[in-house]
Amino acid sequence: MPFTQLKLNPLLVNAVKELGFVRPTAIQSDAIPPALQGRDVIATAQTGSGKTAAFLLPIINRLLERPRRTTRALVLAPTRELAAQILEDFNALSIHTPVTGAAVYGGVSMGPQEHAFRSGVDIIIATPGRLIDHMRSPYARLNQIEHLVLDEADRMLDMGFLPEIRRIVAKLPGKRQTLFFSATMPPPIAVLAAEMLHNPVSIQTQRPAPASGITQAVYPVAQELKAALVAHLLQSKTMTQALIFTRTKHRANRLADYLVHAGVRADRIHGNRSQAQRTAALAGFKNGVFPVLVATDIAARGIDVDALGHVVNFDVPQVPDDYIHRVGRTGRAEATGEAFTFVSPEEEGHLRDIERVIGRRLLRVTAPDFDYQARPNQRLEIPIRQRIAEIRARKRDERARQAVNQARRAAAGRGQTAPPRSPNPHGGGGGRRRRRG
Ligand code: AMP
Repeated sequence: MPFTQLKLNPLLVNAVKELGFVRPTAIQSDAIPPALQGRDVIATAQTGSGKTAAFLLPIINRLLERPRRTTRALVLAPTRELAAQILEDFNALSIHTPVTGAAVYGGVSMGPQEHAFRSGVDIIIATPGRLIDHMRSPYARLNQIEHLVLDEADRMLDMGFLPEIRRIVAKLPGKRQTLFFSATMPPPIAVLAAEMLHNPVSIQTQRPAPASGITQAVYPVAQELKAALVAHLLQSKTMTQALIFTRTKHRANRLADYLVHAGVRADRIHGNRSQAQRTAALAGFKNGVFPVLVATDIAARGIDVDALGHVVNFDVPQVPDDYIHRVGRTGRAEATGEAFTFVSPEEEGHLRDIERVIGRRLLRVTAPDFDYQARPNQRLEIPIRQRIAEIRARKRDERARQAVNQARRAAAGRGQTAPPRSPNPHGGGGGRRRRRG
């Protein structure tokens, strides 16, 4: 089912398209229609299911029809990271609309948050503790709330937020829509839900399984040889186009540099790249100018590349859901794809976690003709201690050179014979003397 069939405002459908979402996820097609009608919803859904857009889209859609400058929607989330993430998703989804939102969480100053309340932003995304702090002041009025979302309710309960949630809900109008999301439904959650929801639509999503057309394989390889293995798989045509995930921005940069140096057309996207650079990299990858795109996970969210051949987990994802989510990028629309995961001996534990979640052992393969005994000529990361030692040694040499030069100048000023020029601390030719040949 395409997004256009969900009866969402075209401004939202445009935003969704620009984010690269091709079709709604299961939770989105199940939750959006009843939520648009104003029904209460209770859903079991994990991170990665697309649950955030499943509650934000219908709420923004309904807020579009209402007068501005009154806070009419409240989202409660367990952590500031999640609240910030929801606000980010809100900003992206509401980009073409006048609907406004703000996040309210601890650890930052209250002032801008107070301003958000006073100016009547349409939607507030809050952690319970900080919201209660604001509710002590008269500006934090919640008496016009028409939509309430509890996101990750089980985590809020685990974190001991139940009393705060009850206090907050007691201040909200009884006539409102409530959307309730939880990864699990243990009895205390079911009790809370029964208290808060009226005749809800109940939705259960399964943990997403990787698409069936995908072949998954694991390459055991030493950490230092991973970059060389990527180059080898490309050169041997084992893969011709690949989206490669690395753990950090630094590794993404070094790997892309390594590949370019090895003659591979590769670009990169990560959080330190400007939006223009990211857009250009993605366009280049999609139209085949760069057959290889190196990305950190965050930057690559929402990428949908038709018939994408390979996904390479250059580093084993530390969370099993990330593995499923990434691997799900290949094999879309019935295309067959392959997902390779490079595992160094230190990463075996994380791989076992993934295998436990997907319920099977992944195939281990070795690349024929790849020199697993090779000494790497370039490391992706120079250990920090080594980097510091190198910087110190360089500084020491500079100081020694300066001291010698100073002495020379002083001696020249007194008309004495100059001492020899600054020594080269690494041996092999000195100072500014030109080398022959
Ligand atoms: P969530 O479960 O809300 O944390 O979403 C997980 C990720 O899926 C986020 O990075 C979203 O941007 C992305 N996402 C949400 N809906 C879709 C969709 N319909 N198609 C592709 N990606 C989506």
